[in-house]
Amino acid sequence: MKILLIYPYPLFDRSQEEDIKPVPIGVYYVGAVLKENHYDVEVLNWYNIHKTPQRIAEVLLEKEPDIIGFSILNANRWGGIEIAEIAKQLNPDVKIVFGGVASTFLWKHFLKHFPQIDFVVIGEGEYAFLDLVGLIEKGNYKKLGNVKGIAFRKNGKIVRTKPADPIQNLDELPIPAQYFEYQHVSFSRGCPWKCTFCGSPKFWGQKIRFHSPENFVRHLEILHDKGVTFFYVSDDNFTINKNRVIEICKRILEKDLKIVWVAISRVSYIDEDILYWMRKAGCTQISYGIESGSEKIRDLLNKKIKTEEIKNAFVLTHKYGIIARAYFIYGSPEESWETIQETIDLIHQIKPLICVLYILEIYPGAKLYLDFQKKSNVTDDIWLKRIEGICYFETDPNLAQETVFAFGKKLRTELYENIDQFVESVSLVDKQELYEMHSDFWSRLGMTFSHGDYSKIEAIKDKDKIAERLFKKSLSYYPNHRAYLGLGLIKQNRKEFEESVKILSKGVELFPESEELNLCLGINHMNLGDYNKALSYLLKLQHSKEASYYIEQCYKELVTFKS
Ligand code: SF4
Repeated sequence: MKILLIYPYPLFDRSQEEDIKPVPIGVYYVGAVLKENHYDVEVLNWYNIHKTPQRIAEVLLEKEPDIIGFSILNANRWGGIEIAEIAKQLNPDVKIVFGGVASTFLWKHFLKHFPQIDFVVIGEGEYAFLDLVGLIEKGNYKKLGNVKGIAFRKNGKIVRTKPADPIQNLDELPIPAQYFEYQHVSFSRGCPWKCTFCGSPKFWGQKIRFHSPENFVRHLEILHDKGVTFFYVSDDNFTINKNRVIEICKRILEKDLKIVWVAISRVSYIDEDILYWMRKAGCTQISYGIESGSEKIRDLLNKKIKTEEIKNAFVLTHKYGIIARAYFIYGSPEESWETIQETIDLIHQIKPLICVLYILEIYPGAKLYLDFQKKSNVTDDIWLKRIEGICYFETDPNLAQETVFAFGKKLRTELYENIDQFVESVSLVDKQELYEMHSDFWSRLGMTFSHGDYSKIEAIKDKDKIAERLFKKSLSYYPNHRAYLGLGLIKQNRKEFEESVKILSKGVELFPESEELNLCLGINHMNLGDYNKALSYLLKLQHSKEASYYIEQCYKELVTFKS
Protein backbone atom coordinates (compact mmCIF):
# COMPACT_ATOMS: atom_id res chain seq x y z
CA MET A 1 0.00 0.00 0.00
CA LYS A 2 1.43 3.33 -1.03
CA ILE A 3 -0.01 6.23 0.93
CA LEU A 4 0.52 9.91 0.25
CA LEU A 5 -0.36 12.55 2.82
CA ILE A 6 -0.79 15.83 0.99
CA TYR A 7 -1.03 19.35 2.34
CA PRO A 8 -2.64 21.23 -0.58
CA TYR A 9 -2.28 24.80 -1.77
CA PRO A 10 -4.57 27.61 -0.56
CA LEU A 11 -7.01 29.39 -2.80
CA PHE A 12 -5.15 32.68 -2.68
CA ASP A 13 -1.46 33.48 -2.48
CA ARG A 14 -0.26 35.51 0.45
CA SER A 15 2.52 38.03 0.87
CA GLN A 16 3.19 36.53 4.32
CA GLU A 17 3.22 32.76 3.89
CA GLU A 18 4.54 31.81 7.30
CA ASP A 19 1.19 30.76 8.77
CA ILE A 20 0.06 28.69 5.81
CA LYS A 21 3.33 27.24 4.55
CA PRO A 22 4.16 24.49 7.05
CA VAL A 23 2.45 21.12 7.05
CA PRO A 24 0.41 20.84 10.29
CA ILE A 25 2.14 18.65 12.87
CA GLY A 26 -0.94 16.39 13.00
CA VAL A 27 -0.12 15.14 9.49
CA TYR A 28 3.27 13.93 10.67
CA TYR A 29 1.65 12.10 13.59
CA VAL A 30 -0.70 10.34 11.16
CA GLY A 31 2.28 9.50 8.97
CA ALA A 32 4.31 8.19 11.91
CA VAL A 33 1.50 5.92 13.10
CA LEU A 34 1.23 4.48 9.58
CA LYS A 35 5.01 4.04 9.36
CA GLU A 36 5.03 2.20 12.70
CA ASN A 37 2.51 -0.14 11.12
CA HIS A 38 4.85 -0.70 8.17
CA TYR A 39 3.00 1.28 5.56
CA ASP A 40 4.84 3.08 2.80
CA VAL A 41 3.97 6.72 3.54
CA GLU A 42 5.16 10.03 2.19
CA VAL A 43 4.19 13.53 3.29
CA LEU A 44 4.04 16.09 0.47
CA ASN A 45 3.89 19.77 1.21
CA TRP A 46 2.01 21.03 -1.83
CA TYR A 47 1.13 24.47 -0.51
CA ASN A 48 2.58 26.00 -3.68
CA ILE A 49 2.39 23.24 -6.29
CA HIS A 50 -0.29 25.22 -8.16
CA LYS A 51 2.55 27.38 -9.40
CA THR A 52 3.80 24.37 -11.40
CA PRO A 53 0.48 22.54 -11.96
CA GLN A 54 1.90 19.93 -14.36
CA ARG A 55 3.87 18.55 -11.40
CA ILE A 56 0.64 17.33 -9.76
CA ALA A 57 -0.02 14.65 -12.37
CA GLU A 58 3.68 13.93 -12.85
CA VAL A 59 4.23 13.18 -9.18
CA LEU A 60 1.00 11.20 -8.82
CA LEU A 61 1.92 9.06 -11.85
CA GLU A 62 5.40 8.50 -10.49
CA LYS A 63 4.35 7.61 -6.94
CA GLU A 64 1.24 5.56 -7.85
CA PRO A 65 -0.53 5.98 -4.50
CA ASP A 66 -3.28 3.59 -3.42
CA ILE A 67 -4.58 6.07 -0.84
CA ILE A 68 -4.20 9.83 -0.62
CA GLY A 69 -4.94 11.60 2.66
CA PHE A 70 -5.44 15.36 2.47
CA SER A 71 -4.96 17.79 5.35
CA ILE A 72 -7.73 20.29 4.83
CA LEU A 73 -8.14 23.77 6.22
CA ASN A 74 -10.75 26.17 4.94
CA ALA A 75 -8.11 28.00 2.93
CA ASN A 76 -6.78 24.96 1.06
CA ARG A 77 -9.94 22.92 0.58
CA TRP A 78 -10.23 23.80 -3.13
CA GLY A 79 -6.62 22.76 -3.60
CA GLY A 80 -7.45 19.38 -2.07
CA ILE A 81 -10.56 19.00 -4.21
CA GLU A 82 -8.66 19.83 -7.40
CA ILE A 83 -5.77 17.47 -6.65
CA ALA A 84 -8.22 14.70 -5.71
CA GLU A 85 -9.98 15.19 -9.04
CA ILE A 86 -6.70 14.80 -10.95
CA ALA A 87 -5.77 11.74 -8.88
CA LYS A 88 -9.10 10.06 -9.67
CA GLN A 89 -8.74 10.82 -13.38
CA LEU A 90 -5.31 9.18 -13.38
CA ASN A 91 -6.44 6.21 -11.31
CA PRO A 92 -10.16 5.79 -10.53
CA ASP A 93 -9.26 3.17 -7.88
CA VAL A 94 -7.23 5.50 -5.71
CA LYS A 95 -8.96 6.18 -2.40
CA ILE A 96 -9.28 9.81 -1.37
CA VAL A 97 -9.48 10.67 2.32
CA PHE A 98 -10.05 14.19 3.62
CA GLY A 99 -8.98 15.03 7.19
CA GLY A 100 -8.05 18.08 9.26
CA VAL A 101 -10.00 20.95 10.76
CA ALA A 102 -12.22 21.94 7.81
CA SER A 103 -13.03 18.30 7.03
CA THR A 104 -14.05 17.75 10.64
CA PHE A 105 -16.63 20.51 10.54
CA LEU A 106 -17.66 20.17 6.88
CA TRP A 107 -17.60 16.37 6.46
CA LYS A 108 -21.17 16.23 5.18
CA HIS A 109 -20.60 19.10 2.77
CA PHE A 110 -17.55 17.41 1.26
CA LEU A 111 -19.20 14.02 0.83
CA LYS A 112 -22.40 15.56 -0.52
CA HIS A 113 -20.82 17.70 -3.21
CA PHE A 114 -17.55 16.08 -4.21
CA PRO A 115 -17.75 12.51 -5.50
CA GLN A 116 -13.96 12.37 -5.76
CA ILE A 117 -13.79 12.28 -1.93
CA ASP A 118 -14.33 8.72 -0.64
CA PHE A 119 -13.87 9.16 3.11
CA VAL A 120 -13.59 11.89 5.69
CA VAL A 121 -11.67 11.48 8.95
CA ILE A 122 -13.34 13.52 11.66
CA GLY A 123 -11.29 14.99 14.54
CA GLU A 124 -8.06 13.53 15.85
CA GLY A 125 -7.05 11.33 12.96
CA GLU A 126 -4.20 8.98 13.84
CA TYR A 127 -6.09 5.81 14.70
CA ALA A 128 -9.16 6.46 12.56
CA PHE A 129 -6.93 6.78 9.50
CA LEU A 130 -4.90 3.70 10.45
CA ASP A 131 -8.04 1.59 10.88
CA LEU A 132 -9.47 2.90 7.64
CA VAL A 133 -6.27 2.10 5.73
CA GLY A 134 -6.34 -1.44 7.18
CA LEU A 135 -9.85 -2.04 5.85
CA ILE A 136 -9.10 -0.50 2.44
CA GLU A 137 -6.03 -2.73 2.20
CA LYS A 138 -8.12 -5.84 2.85
CA GLY A 139 -10.97 -4.56 0.69
CA ASN A 140 -13.15 -5.15 3.74
CA TYR A 141 -15.60 -2.32 3.24
CA LYS A 142 -18.37 -4.04 5.18
CA LYS A 143 -16.62 -3.23 8.44
CA LEU A 144 -16.25 0.50 7.77
CA GLY A 145 -19.01 1.18 10.26
CA ASN A 146 -16.76 -0.15 13.05
CA VAL A 147 -14.08 2.47 12.44
CA LYS A 148 -14.66 5.32 14.86
CA GLY A 149 -14.30 8.91 13.64
CA ILE A 150 -14.97 8.61 9.92
CA ALA A 151 -17.72 9.42 7.41
CA PHE A 152 -18.37 7.92 3.99
CA ARG A 153 -21.08 7.10 1.47
CA LYS A 154 -23.02 3.87 1.76
CA ASN A 155 -25.68 2.94 -0.79
CA GLY A 156 -25.89 6.55 -1.85
CA LYS A 157 -26.30 7.82 1.73
CA ILE A 158 -23.77 9.68 3.82
CA VAL A 159 -22.92 7.80 7.00
CA ARG A 160 -20.97 8.97 10.01
CA THR A 161 -19.55 6.51 12.55
CA LYS A 162 -19.25 7.04 16.31
CA PRO A 163 -16.76 9.75 17.31
CA ALA A 164 -13.19 8.60 17.90
CA ASP A 165 -12.05 8.59 21.52
CA PRO A 166 -9.47 11.28 22.25
CA ILE A 167 -6.02 9.77 22.74
CA GLN A 168 -5.50 10.07 26.50
CA ASN A 169 -1.83 9.23 26.65
CA LEU A 170 -0.20 11.28 23.89
CA ASP A 171 3.14 9.61 24.60
CA GLU A 172 1.77 6.38 23.14
CA LEU A 173 2.02 8.02 19.72
CA PRO A 174 5.31 7.54 17.90
CA ILE A 175 7.50 10.62 17.70
CA PRO A 176 7.13 11.66 14.04
CA ALA A 177 10.65 13.11 14.00
CA GLN A 178 11.91 9.53 13.74
CA TYR A 179 10.58 9.54 10.19
CA PHE A 180 10.17 13.15 9.13
CA GLU A 181 11.81 16.54 9.52
CA TYR A 182 9.89 19.72 10.40
CA GLN A 183 9.96 22.73 12.71
CA HIS A 184 6.45 22.86 14.20
CA VAL A 185 6.06 20.76 17.32
CA SER A 186 3.29 20.37 19.87
CA PHE A 187 3.30 19.46 23.54
CA SER A 188 -0.42 19.34 24.26
CA ARG A 189 -3.85 19.07 22.66
CA GLY A 190 -7.04 20.76 23.73
CA CYS A 191 -8.16 24.12 25.07
CA PRO A 192 -10.50 24.69 28.05
CA TRP A 193 -11.79 28.05 26.78
CA LYS A 194 -14.52 28.80 24.30
CA CYS A 195 -13.67 31.91 22.31
CA THR A 196 -16.55 32.46 19.93
CA PHE A 197 -14.31 32.82 16.85
CA CYS A 198 -12.27 29.67 17.41
CA GLY A 199 -12.88 26.03 16.48
CA SER A 200 -9.88 24.57 18.28
CA PRO A 201 -11.66 23.35 21.46
CA LYS A 202 -14.30 21.61 19.34
CA PHE A 203 -11.63 19.87 17.30
CA TRP A 204 -9.22 18.84 20.09
CA GLY A 205 -11.63 18.85 23.03
CA GLN A 206 -11.77 21.09 26.09
CA LYS A 207 -9.74 18.81 28.30
CA ILE A 208 -6.05 19.39 27.82
CA ARG A 209 -3.90 16.33 27.22
CA PHE A 210 -0.12 16.57 27.45
CA HIS A 211 2.91 14.72 26.29
CA SER A 212 5.36 14.11 29.11
CA PRO A 213 8.18 16.68 29.25
CA GLU A 214 10.58 13.79 28.66
CA ASN A 215 8.80 12.78 25.44
CA PHE A 216 8.57 16.37 24.23
CA VAL A 217 12.25 17.08 24.77
CA ARG A 218 13.17 13.78 23.12
CA HIS A 219 11.09 15.01 20.16
CA LEU A 220 13.13 18.23 20.04
CA GLU A 221 16.34 16.29 20.46
CA ILE A 222 15.67 13.99 17.50
CA LEU A 223 14.93 16.99 15.29
CA HIS A 224 17.96 18.82 16.65
CA ASP A 225 20.14 15.84 15.74
CA LYS A 226 18.79 16.16 12.20
CA GLY A 227 19.94 19.77 12.11
CA VAL A 228 16.74 21.61 13.11
CA THR A 229 17.56 24.37 15.57
CA PHE A 230 14.51 26.65 15.32
CA PHE A 231 11.09 25.50 16.50
CA TYR A 232 7.54 26.77 16.55
CA VAL A 233 5.70 25.30 19.53
CA SER A 234 2.20 25.34 18.13
CA ASP A 235 0.17 24.58 21.29
CA ASP A 236 -2.74 26.94 21.84
CA ASN A 237 -1.66 27.59 25.45
CA PHE A 238 1.85 26.27 25.96
CA THR A 239 2.35 27.60 29.49
CA ILE A 240 -0.87 26.34 30.98
CA ASN A 241 0.96 23.85 33.18
CA LYS A 242 3.85 25.75 34.72
CA ASN A 243 5.64 22.80 36.30
CA ARG A 244 5.68 20.81 33.09
CA VAL A 245 7.01 23.77 31.10
CA ILE A 246 9.77 24.42 33.61
CA GLU A 247 10.68 20.75 33.52
CA ILE A 248 10.88 20.92 29.72
CA CYS A 249 13.17 23.95 29.95
CA LYS A 250 15.43 22.30 32.49
CA ARG A 251 15.70 19.19 30.33
CA ILE A 252 16.58 21.29 27.26
CA LEU A 253 19.36 22.88 29.31
CA GLU A 254 20.57 19.58 30.76
CA LYS A 255 20.82 18.11 27.29
CA ASP A 256 22.57 21.28 26.16
CA LEU A 257 20.31 21.60 23.12
CA LYS A 258 21.31 24.80 21.36
CA ILE A 259 17.87 25.65 20.05
CA VAL A 260 15.71 28.72 19.57
CA TRP A 261 11.94 28.48 19.83
CA VAL A 262 8.75 30.52 19.92
CA ALA A 263 5.47 29.68 21.65
CA ILE A 264 1.88 30.81 22.14
CA SER A 265 0.45 31.50 25.57
CA ARG A 266 -2.38 33.03 27.47
CA VAL A 267 -1.67 36.24 29.37
CA SER A 268 -3.00 34.73 32.59
CA TYR A 269 -0.50 31.84 32.56
CA ILE A 270 2.76 33.74 32.77
CA ASP A 271 4.98 34.65 35.69
CA GLU A 272 8.62 35.55 36.26
CA ASP A 273 9.63 32.03 37.14
CA ILE A 274 8.33 30.44 33.95
CA LEU A 275 9.69 33.27 31.79
CA TYR A 276 13.13 32.92 33.34
CA TRP A 277 13.32 29.24 32.47
CA MET A 278 11.79 29.66 29.03
CA ARG A 279 14.32 32.32 28.15
CA LYS A 280 17.22 30.26 29.47
CA ALA A 281 16.04 27.32 27.35
CA GLY A 282 15.98 29.31 24.11
CA CYS A 283 12.51 30.87 23.88
CA THR A 284 12.69 34.19 22.03
CA GLN A 285 9.05 35.08 21.45
CA ILE A 286 5.65 34.45 22.99
CA SER A 287 2.47 35.25 21.07
CA TYR A 288 -0.57 36.28 23.10
CA GLY A 289 -4.13 36.44 21.81
CA ILE A 290 -5.35 39.83 23.04
CA GLU A 291 -7.98 40.33 20.34
CA SER A 292 -9.21 43.77 21.46
CA GLY A 293 -8.55 46.63 23.84
CA SER A 294 -12.26 46.86 24.49
CA GLU A 295 -13.48 44.73 27.38
CA LYS A 296 -16.94 44.76 25.84
CA ILE A 297 -15.60 43.19 22.64
CA ARG A 298 -13.42 40.72 24.49
CA ASP A 299 -16.55 39.66 26.40
CA LEU A 300 -18.50 39.30 23.15
CA LEU A 301 -15.70 37.10 21.85
CA ASN A 302 -15.76 35.25 25.19
CA LYS A 303 -12.02 35.79 25.54
CA LYS A 304 -12.03 35.90 29.32
CA ILE A 305 -8.84 37.82 29.92
CA LYS A 306 -8.51 40.99 31.97
CA THR A 307 -6.72 44.18 30.99
CA GLU A 308 -4.50 43.93 34.08
CA GLU A 309 -3.45 40.41 33.08
CA ILE A 310 -2.55 41.63 29.60
CA LYS A 311 -0.45 44.49 30.93
CA ASN A 312 1.31 42.25 33.40
CA ALA A 313 2.15 39.61 30.79
CA PHE A 314 3.68 42.14 28.40
CA VAL A 315 5.83 43.86 31.03
CA LEU A 316 7.12 40.55 32.39
CA THR A 317 7.74 38.94 29.00
CA HIS A 318 9.81 41.89 27.83
CA LYS A 319 11.60 42.06 31.18
CA TYR A 320 13.02 38.60 30.47
CA GLY A 321 14.17 39.47 26.98
CA ILE A 322 11.39 37.63 25.19
CA ILE A 323 9.45 39.41 22.45
CA ALA A 324 5.77 39.67 23.39
CA ARG A 325 3.80 39.42 20.16
CA ALA A 326 0.19 40.55 20.27
CA TYR A 327 -2.60 39.11 18.18
CA PHE A 328 -5.40 41.60 17.65
CA ILE A 329 -8.65 41.09 15.81
CA TYR A 330 -10.68 43.99 14.43
CA GLY A 331 -14.02 44.22 12.68
CA SER A 332 -15.64 42.29 15.56
CA PRO A 333 -19.26 42.47 16.70
CA GLU A 334 -20.00 46.00 17.97
CA GLU A 335 -16.66 47.33 16.72
CA SER A 336 -16.66 51.11 16.36
CA TRP A 337 -14.14 53.95 16.35
CA GLU A 338 -14.55 54.06 20.15
CA THR A 339 -13.59 50.41 20.57
CA ILE A 340 -10.72 50.83 18.10
CA GLN A 341 -9.54 53.74 20.25
CA GLU A 342 -9.63 51.42 23.26
CA THR A 343 -7.41 49.00 21.33
CA ILE A 344 -5.05 51.84 20.47
CA ASP A 345 -4.97 52.87 24.13
CA LEU A 346 -4.13 49.32 25.13
CA ILE A 347 -1.39 49.13 22.50
CA HIS A 348 0.14 52.25 24.05
CA GLN A 349 0.00 50.68 27.48
CA ILE A 350 1.43 47.28 26.66
CA LYS A 351 3.87 48.49 23.97
CA PRO A 352 4.03 45.27 21.94
CA LEU A 353 7.17 44.78 19.84
CA ILE A 354 5.20 42.89 17.20
CA CYS A 355 1.47 43.02 16.48
CA VAL A 356 -0.45 40.70 14.20
CA LEU A 357 -3.68 42.37 13.15
CA TYR A 358 -6.45 40.28 11.60
CA ILE A 359 -9.92 41.11 10.37
CA LEU A 360 -12.29 38.80 12.25
CA GLU A 361 -13.23 35.82 10.09
CA ILE A 362 -15.74 33.15 10.95
CA TYR A 363 -15.30 29.48 10.22
CA PRO A 364 -17.18 26.26 10.75
CA GLY A 365 -16.50 24.97 14.25
CA ALA A 366 -16.75 28.45 15.78
CA LYS A 367 -19.78 29.71 17.67
CA LEU A 368 -19.87 32.88 15.53
CA TYR A 369 -20.36 30.69 12.46
CA LEU A 370 -23.32 28.89 14.05
CA ASP A 371 -24.82 32.23 15.08
CA PHE A 372 -24.41 33.47 11.51
CA GLN A 373 -26.09 30.35 10.12
CA LYS A 374 -29.02 30.70 12.50
CA LYS A 375 -29.40 34.39 11.84
CA SER A 376 -29.24 34.21 8.08
CA ASN A 377 -30.36 30.68 7.18
CA VAL A 378 -27.09 30.15 5.34
CA THR A 379 -26.10 26.52 4.94
CA ASP A 380 -22.66 24.98 4.53
CA ASP A 381 -23.27 25.26 0.78
CA ILE A 382 -21.74 28.71 1.14
CA TRP A 383 -18.40 26.87 0.94
CA LEU A 384 -19.17 25.93 -2.66
CA LYS A 385 -18.06 29.48 -3.40
CA ARG A 386 -14.39 29.95 -4.10
CA ILE A 387 -13.77 31.79 -0.84
CA GLU A 388 -11.28 30.99 1.93
CA GLY A 389 -13.29 32.43 4.79
CA ILE A 390 -16.15 34.74 5.70
CA CYS A 391 -15.28 38.11 7.18
CA TYR A 392 -17.52 38.84 10.13
CA PHE A 393 -18.30 42.32 8.80
CA GLU A 394 -19.89 40.73 5.71
CA THR A 395 -22.51 39.25 8.03
CA ASP A 396 -23.16 42.38 10.08
CA PRO A 397 -25.06 45.33 8.53
CA ASN A 398 -23.56 47.64 11.15
CA LEU A 399 -20.05 47.21 9.78
CA ALA A 400 -19.10 48.57 6.38
CA GLN A 401 -16.09 47.11 4.62
CA GLU A 402 -14.36 50.45 4.10
CA THR A 403 -14.77 51.32 7.79
CA VAL A 404 -13.22 48.00 8.82
CA PHE A 405 -10.32 48.55 6.44
CA ALA A 406 -9.89 52.03 7.91
CA PHE A 407 -9.78 50.48 11.42
CA GLY A 408 -6.90 48.26 10.29
CA LYS A 409 -5.04 51.14 8.71
CA LYS A 410 -5.37 53.23 11.84
CA LEU A 411 -4.13 50.39 14.08
CA ARG A 412 -1.11 49.71 11.87
CA THR A 413 -0.20 53.37 11.62
CA GLU A 414 -0.41 53.72 15.39
CA LEU A 415 1.90 50.75 15.85
CA TYR A 416 4.48 51.79 13.29
CA GLU A 417 4.59 55.42 14.38
CA ASN A 418 5.27 54.40 17.94
CA ILE A 419 7.33 51.26 17.59
CA ASP A 420 10.57 53.14 18.28
CA GLN A 421 9.18 54.35 21.58
CA PHE A 422 7.86 50.85 22.43
CA VAL A 423 11.29 49.34 21.86
CA GLU A 424 12.89 52.07 23.94
CA SER A 425 10.58 51.34 26.86
CA VAL A 426 11.82 47.77 27.34
CA SER A 427 13.62 47.35 30.61
CA LEU A 428 15.41 44.03 31.00
CA VAL A 429 15.85 42.28 34.31
CA ASP A 430 19.35 42.70 35.71
CA LYS A 431 20.46 39.10 36.09
CA GLN A 432 24.00 38.43 35.03
CA GLU A 433 23.28 34.87 33.93
CA LEU A 434 20.86 36.31 31.35
CA TYR A 435 23.25 38.88 29.85
CA GLU A 436 24.15 36.69 26.91
CA MET A 437 20.43 36.23 26.18
CA HIS A 438 19.76 39.94 26.61
CA SER A 439 22.43 40.59 24.03
CA ASP A 440 20.74 38.10 21.71
CA PHE A 441 17.35 39.80 22.32
CA TRP A 442 18.58 43.27 21.33
CA SER A 443 20.48 41.98 18.31
CA ARG A 444 17.45 40.05 17.02
CA LEU A 445 15.32 43.12 17.40
CA GLY A 446 18.01 45.19 15.67
CA MET A 447 17.97 42.82 12.69
CA THR A 448 14.18 43.13 12.50
CA PHE A 449 14.69 46.84 11.81
CA SER A 450 17.78 46.57 9.62
CA HIS A 451 16.99 43.49 7.53
CA GLY A 452 13.77 41.87 8.79
CA ASP A 453 10.05 42.65 8.66
CA TYR A 454 10.30 46.25 9.85
CA SER A 455 13.04 47.11 7.35
CA LYS A 456 10.41 47.00 4.57
CA ILE A 457 7.85 49.23 6.26
CA GLU A 458 8.01 52.79 5.09
CA ALA A 459 5.88 54.15 7.91
CA ILE A 460 8.67 53.33 10.36
CA LYS A 461 11.14 56.20 10.32
CA ASP A 462 14.88 56.07 11.01
CA LYS A 463 15.04 52.29 10.93
CA ASP A 464 18.80 52.14 10.67
CA LYS A 465 19.24 54.51 13.59
CA ILE A 466 16.93 52.33 15.69
CA ALA A 467 18.82 49.22 14.59
CA GLU A 468 22.17 50.84 15.37
CA ARG A 469 21.01 51.69 18.87
CA LEU A 470 19.76 48.15 19.41
CA PHE A 471 22.99 46.54 18.17
CA LYS A 472 24.96 48.78 20.52
CA LYS A 473 22.69 47.79 23.40
CA SER A 474 23.29 44.17 22.48
CA LEU A 475 27.06 44.60 22.63
CA SER A 476 26.80 46.39 25.95
CA TYR A 477 25.61 43.09 27.43
CA TYR A 478 27.73 40.49 25.69
CA PRO A 479 29.70 39.93 22.47
CA ASN A 480 27.16 39.01 19.83
CA HIS A 481 27.86 37.87 16.31
CA ARG A 482 24.63 39.27 14.89
CA ALA A 483 25.21 42.67 16.48
CA TYR A 484 28.74 43.01 15.10
CA LEU A 485 27.52 42.07 11.66
CA GLY A 486 24.47 44.35 11.83
CA LEU A 487 26.51 47.33 12.99
CA GLY A 488 29.20 46.65 10.41
CA LEU A 489 26.61 46.57 7.65
CA ILE A 490 24.97 49.80 8.82
CA LYS A 491 28.34 51.57 8.75
CA GLN A 492 29.11 50.05 5.37
CA ASN A 493 25.79 51.26 3.93
CA ARG A 494 26.59 54.73 5.22
CA LYS A 495 30.00 54.47 3.53
CA GLU A 496 31.72 54.80 6.90
CA PHE A 497 34.16 52.08 5.88
CA GLU A 498 36.83 52.72 8.49
CA GLU A 499 34.29 52.55 11.25
CA SER A 500 32.85 49.39 9.71
CA VAL A 501 36.31 47.78 9.55
CA LYS A 502 36.88 48.61 13.23
CA ILE A 503 33.63 46.95 14.31
CA LEU A 504 33.95 43.94 12.03
CA SER A 505 37.59 43.36 13.00
CA LYS A 506 36.51 43.11 16.60
CA GLY A 507 33.76 40.71 15.51
CA VAL A 508 36.19 38.53 13.54
CA GLU A 509 38.56 38.48 16.50
CA LEU A 510 35.77 37.08 18.67
CA PHE A 511 34.11 34.91 16.00
CA PRO A 512 36.98 33.92 13.72
CA GLU A 513 34.98 31.19 12.01
CA SER A 514 32.13 33.47 10.94
CA GLU A 515 31.78 33.54 7.17
CA GLU A 516 29.54 36.61 7.20
CA LEU A 517 31.89 38.66 9.34
CA ASN A 518 34.98 37.68 7.32
CA LEU A 519 33.20 38.41 4.03
CA CYS A 520 31.87 41.73 5.19
CA LEU A 521 35.23 42.73 6.62
CA GLY A 522 36.96 41.74 3.36
CA ILE A 523 34.52 43.86 1.35
CA ASN A 524 35.07 46.85 3.60
CA HIS A 525 38.83 46.58 3.20
CA MET A 526 38.21 46.54 -0.54
CA ASN A 527 36.13 49.69 -0.14
CA LEU A 528 39.13 51.27 1.52
CA GLY A 529 41.38 50.12 -1.35
CA ASP A 530 43.39 47.67 0.80
CA TYR A 531 43.11 44.59 -1.42
CA ASN A 532 45.86 42.59 0.27
CA LYS A 533 44.18 43.01 3.63
CA ALA A 534 40.81 42.15 2.03
CA LEU A 535 42.30 38.95 0.63
CA SER A 536 43.54 37.91 4.06
CA TYR A 537 39.88 37.57 5.09
CA LEU A 538 38.32 36.51 1.81
CA LEU A 539 40.78 33.70 1.15
CA LYS A 540 39.48 31.98 4.26
CA LEU A 541 36.21 31.55 2.34
CA GLN A 542 37.39 30.12 -0.97
CA HIS A 543 34.54 27.59 -1.02
CA SER A 544 31.97 30.43 -1.05
CA LYS A 545 30.71 31.61 -4.44
CA GLU A 546 30.16 35.11 -3.17
CA ALA A 547 33.66 35.32 -1.71
CA SER A 548 35.18 33.94 -4.95
CA TYR A 549 33.71 36.88 -6.83
CA TYR A 550 35.35 39.38 -4.45
CA ILE A 551 38.64 37.43 -4.44
CA GLU A 552 38.73 37.71 -8.22
CA GLN A 553 38.04 41.45 -8.01
CA CYS A 554 40.89 41.86 -5.52
CA TYR A 555 43.37 40.07 -7.80
CA LYS A 556 42.25 42.17 -10.77
CA GLU A 557 42.79 45.37 -8.80
CA LEU A 558 46.20 44.22 -7.59
CA VAL A 559 47.33 43.31 -11.15
CA THR A 560 46.10 46.67 -12.49
CA PHE A 561 47.90 48.44 -9.69
CA LYS A 562 51.24 46.62 -10.41
CA SER A 563 51.09 47.20 -14.15
S1 SF4 B 1 -8.56 31.35 20.79
FE1 SF4 B 1 -7.11 30.22 22.04
S2 SF4 B 1 -7.97 30.33 24.11
FE2 SF4 B 1 -9.62 30.86 22.72
S3 SF4 B 1 -10.67 28.93 22.35
FE3 SF4 B 1 -9.18 29.18 20.70
S4 SF4 B 1 -7.37 28.11 21.39
FE4 SF4 B 1 -8.68 28.40 23.17
